[in-house]
Amino acid sequence: MSTESLKAKDQRYILPHYVNIAKRQAEGADVIDHGDRVYVLDEDGKKFLDASSGMWAASLGFNEIGPAEAAIEQLRKMPFYHYGLNKTHEPAIRLAEKLCSMVPLPDAKVHFATTGSEANDFLIKFIWFRNNARGLPQKTKVLSHTNAWHGSTIAACSMSGISRCHQGYNLPLPGFLHLTEPHYFRNHHDGESEADFVDRLCCELEERIAAEGADTIAAMIAEPVGGASGVVMAPDGYYARIQEILKRNDILFIADEVITGFGRTGKMFGSEIMGIKPDAMTFAKGFSSSYIPISAIVMGKELYDGIALGNEKFGFFAHGSTFAGHPVGCAAALRTLEIIEERNLLEHICESGEYLGEKMRRYESHPLVGEIRGTGLMWALEMVADKESRRLLKYTGASANRLAVNCEKKGLILRNLANGDSVALAPPLIINKQEIDDIFDRFDSAFQSTIEWIEEKNFA
Ligand code: PMP
Repeated sequence: MSTESLKAKDQRYILPHYVNIAKRQAEGADVIDHGDRVYVLDEDGKKFLDASSGMWAASLGFNEIGPAEAAIEQLRKMPFYHYGLNKTHEPAIRLAEKLCSMVPLPDAKVHFATTGSEANDFLIKFIWFRNNARGLPQKTKVLSHTNAWHGSTIAACSMSGISRCHQGYNLPLPGFLHLTEPHYFRNHHDGESEADFVDRLCCELEERIAAEGADTIAAMIAEPVGGASGVVMAPDGYYARIQEILKRNDILFIADEVITGFGRTGKMFGSEIMGIKPDAMTFAKGFSSSYIPISAIVMGKELYDGIALGNEKFGFFAHGSTFAGHPVGCAAALRTLEIIEERNLLEHICESGEYLGEKMRRYESHPLVGEIRGTGLMWALEMVADKESRRLLKYTGASANRLAVNCEKKGLILRNLANGDSVALAPPLIINKQEIDDIFDRFDSAFQSTIEWIEEKNFA
């Protein structure tokens, strides 16, 4: 065996993701070896508090035994079978039953997939299939928000509204249209109230539908609370209003709950806090605490009936994926959902979220802090050059990046977001008070040194 370090081998053999490759080649990466609650430790024993849950993912922390035990038991009993053709299996059935009992969607049906991207991608396929079955082949376009993240496959990336993720990839595909994100702080006009802002976004939607033709638009997808876009919380009434417009135009509404599902926002689903009544929902990440890749589409009767109609028209539901509904993933996910309920995690998230929010709000009055926003255990701090005018800092993004780097030096991992100069804190949902204090012991000094750096560089 070669004596080359793991870090060097990583540089030699791996094309990593979501990274500046040249920088990674030059500097290498920390080799994470194991986890302990909200902490991860690298191969040298260096301990990081991961306040991003490893990409909003490990909701039960980094060493919860329950899903692991369920997965091992399932691996021993039946490590693999699919749920297609004329076969099915207990883990998929039990998980689907559980999920249907939880979601705010009557008469729901579940289709499993492996990643969040795949779930969103499959769902658009299903909606197209339904529309073809209904004799509406031109009803294909998909609406979403600028700066939203819906995944990395060709269709999911097209739905995403992050221009950096489109550049150089010939994306978005035609027919994927982006609307102004309901980010009041960043997008409102001077003097515009929240209600007026909602009115304007509703007008934009109506105008877009009129311009494109309602008969060409299949669906709109949105994250109930925007994750990668900077914990964007739409003003009151926004979703009720746009859902009314969409319904009137026979356009389905998809809630992408990949981040917001299963407690992150303080409710079981983000749709609940935003007053969303989705036609379909997608889940991944916290579904299995990310211990095993598994995702799901949950759809209402309208969509399911349309797919059944497609089956009638085309003679077959010719769609499948080997790993979809993987029994080991299903077992881990079911145990994750049980743990969330057994431990009354929602109550804990609300209490911890309030405490974390209080700690964040201490920064609200800082002249370079534009806004603190959040709910449950997802919070963002947005830095600006000027509070009143919301003017961006020079070299937008550089200061949030610096803050993330300074935090890492203190052993704190957070998410630096590609929207203005924002950072997000979204720690594992099991985080306790002492661990939240630990976040801010590290964050406070990192923030202070970042402010000094911004002043020194004259970025404000
Ligand atoms: N939707 C949202 C809201 C996400 O944040 C992400 C991933 N960051 C995805 C979808 C895609 O999920 P995955 O990375 O599992 O493909």
